[in-house]
Amino acid sequence: LYSTAQQYLAGGVSSDARRTTGVPLYVDRAQGARLWDVDGNAYVDYVLGQGPALLGHCPPEVVEAISDQAARGMVYSAQHAAEVRVAERLCAMVPSAERVRFNTVGSEAVHAALRLARGFTGRSRILKFEGHYHGWLDPVLYSVHPALDLAGPADAPVAVPGTAGQQEGHGEDLIVCPWNDLETLTRLMDRYGAEIAAVIAEPVLCNTGAILPDPGYLEAVRKLCDQHGSLLIFDEIITGFRLAPGGAQEYLGITPDLSVFGKAMAGGMQVSALVGKASVMDHISTGKVAHAGTFNSQPVGIAAAEATLRVLDERRDEVYGTLFARGSALMEGIRAAAEKAGVPLLVDGPGPVFQTYFTDAGAVRDYRDFAATDRAMMARLHAALLDRGVNMVPRGLWFLSTAHTESDIDATVDAFAGALRAL
Ligand code: PMP
Repeated sequence: LYSTAQQYLAGGVSSDARRTTGVPLYVDRAQGARLWDVDGNAYVDYVLGQGPALLGHCPPEVVEAISDQAARGMVYSAQHAAEVRVAERLCAMVPSAERVRFNTVGSEAVHAALRLARGFTGRSRILKFEGHYHGWLDPVLYSVHPALDLAGPADAPVAVPGTAGQQEGHGEDLIVCPWNDLETLTRLMDRYGAEIAAVIAEPVLCNTGAILPDPGYLEAVRKLCDQHGSLLIFDEIITGFRLAPGGAQEYLGITPDLSVFGKAMAGGMQVSALVGKASVMDHISTGKVAHAGTFNSQPVGIAAAEATLRVLDERRDEVYGTLFARGSALMEGIRAAAEKAGVPLLVDGPGPVFQTYFTDAGAVRDYRDFAATDRAMMARLHAALLDRGVNMVPRGLWFLSTAHTESDIDATVDAFAGALRAL
């Protein structure tokens, strides 16, 4: 398959999956917490489509909703009742949501949020944080500022090949600031605040590690945004519905002006949402800021979102109890296995998503700490785990689902111990 794919797909794959494994995993089917490859090998899956399968693969409620809707029409390009119901539920679940606009994928929702922030404030600059990923569209793709020099032009970022794997594009109006560094942020806001339309952040950084904000940090970010009249945007594409029914903003108790959701909100189908304060979102309603998309509110995706959000909302105790319990059991098990093997491994994160790092450092607080961990070793661990029937995100990130059982966790810890011995 792979050699044929190399003739027809650029790079032989449709994603970057080959980078760490050598030969990519070709998946035949997925169910619950498991994937099967084309050779019939089974894997306990902690990638979950890079997050979407929060209820496991093929949750019955979602499959049924998709099938029913597909029989009644797959695309309308017109209003329908389910769209209204999902928007209403989102506003009930997410603390900062008073209005909703739907898109298809996360990158589009981010684009919509930035455009809205610029239209609302009449300003052009965006401030983002090092290592935070907000989709593959150029304006925010650029990830790392090589030398954040406040004496020089902080508005002229230069790409650093090979540092983040996300370095190719950047926007002229982008300012990149280190994460968890309030002093630098304060200085940048003092200097550029009046020109900054929005500050965008993954409230828990999950694309280069799994890094919680320092205590008080996001509160201070919120305050700086208010002081300078810049909007605060939370990119909850990963954290949304994973840490709490209302996302990281509920989990951490910080309310942004706008937020974007995707991945887990439709149980594996492609639906994203921009939500936020009515006073800002109404710039879309009044036509001051354009928003479009042929597949927005596509009925099959919306039916999947409705079924998924109903489960997350109505069975919240069971869902989040399971996610946190399985996450912390797996983190503990992996820590114990590493300690027994005498391997310096840091295991950190909220639980329903967490990161393993090969490092002696006691903590990873920002992108630079993450970049200093042994990522070549992590790639070898990824391959050794695949050999033992465990699929983690190659960079060492783990996603839990409600379909993971206690015995899946035990089997994974055994596989992890075996992989460490082999390495
Ligand atoms: N924001 C974050 C935080 C993400 O993790 C991702 C995807 N990994 C995106 C935005 C982009 O979403 P999509 O790939 O659906 O366009």
